Amino acid sequence: MTDYRKDFPLLSEIGENTVDGREWIYIDNAATSQRPQCVIDAERDFYLKHNANPLRGNYPLSVEATELYENARKGVRDFIGAKSAREIIFTRNTTESMNLVAYSYGLTNVKEGDEILVSIMEHHSNLLPWQMVARQTGAKLRFIECRPDGSLDLDQVREQITEKTKIVAITQVSNVLGRINPIKEIAAMAHEKNAIIVVDGAQSTPHMPVNVQELDADFFAFSGHKIFGPMGIGVLYGKKKLLKKMPPFLSGGEMIESVTRESAKYAELPHKFEAGTVNAAGAIALHAAIKYAQSVGFDVMQERELAVTKRAFDGLKELPHVHVLGSDRAEEHTGILTFTIDDVHPHDVSEILIADGICVRAGHHCAQPLLNYLGISSATRASFMFYNTEEEADQFVASIASIRERMG
Ligand code: PLP
Repeated sequence: MTDYRKDFPLLSEIGENTVDGREWIYIDNAATSQRPQCVIDAERDFYLKHNANPLRGNYPLSVEATELYENARKGVRDFIGAKSAREIIFTRNTTESMNLVAYSYGLTNVKEGDEILVSIMEHHSNLLPWQMVARQTGAKLRFIECRPDGSLDLDQVREQITEKTKIVAITQVSNVLGRINPIKEIAAMAHEKNAIIVVDGAQSTPHMPVNVQELDADFFAFSGHKIFGPMGIGVLYGKKKLLKKMPPFLSGGEMIESVTRESAKYAELPHKFEAGTVNAAGAIALHAAIKYAQSVGFDVMQERELAVTKRAFDGLKELPHVHVLGSDRAEEHTGILTFTIDDVHPHDVSEILIADGICVRAGHHCAQPLLNYLGISSATRASFMFYNTEEEADQFVASIASIRERMG
């Protein structure tokens, strides 16, 4: 069996990642993944060998930087199955992508009396921008609720999407429940009523193949850092016919064709939405990350990730005081196990796990409405990637099993 951990310096270089002589167990992958050496090299190589401001100069170094940057855009296009590279906009992250759609599309297409539909499980990144649009336009923000296992009642969703609905904003995978939402079906319902669908792919792109044309998503966002890429680079996909009509989100250099004292003619897509000097090294390293994911293959990653998640889930199920949120089936968790422990605060859980060298996340996971809806204010989340091992899952379960005694 291939040892993919060797590809990740932080997971494999002994002494680089240790607590009391033992290696840290990193199971906070939904917050950010680790990066393979090829991604670190790609970012470094840009500055070592190709550094020039792309899209600006016509000397060879700048032309080279431009080519690498635009090539990265084509890599993203192919990765998510977009029709054209002009539909791919580089942003900083999912949060910025969602703000771009909200400020640029939302504020110009939504009016008083319209409705914006979001799911109860949205990350704040795909909620607060829509709260802003609703506040500024007088539109109503409505919520799709889920069943306790995280699934959606599609009949109810169909009823909630009406002639008044202008935007449906929903995540493909919940960062708390790990549940996959049926985006294709919801997109069809939205389009039937002439609404658009904005999809948050932050937690789906690292774990499953995505094809935006098959989903018929109008907008689709994801972050590089969750899929082995660098921090500070993200993507917004948008259908060309929508992007073309939208005003720029940010303005200034790089996004113009010509400027007079009073006005400006904006550049063509996608540059209209990429104001200022771009994060070329980040985009190029994201391209390397995508190529890495493709070289391992989602089938291999999913098989390994499921084996480890299932091992941890089965272990937690043996503990009557531990309650995993969402589905009872490991297959429906996309590597994410968020849980509470009777009588132990999630922050104490994470502190004890840290003492055991295990990195997890405790808190509201930027999904406060979902946690409130589930009747809790915080929870602990373990999130697995294909490079995690069954031994790590066992150590995690052993630590959890001992927590109540250790708390006295
Ligand atoms: N959406 C989901 C589902 C997420 O899990 C996250 C990050 O945890 C985000 C959006 C925001 O991502 P970023 O902080 O990279 O903008």
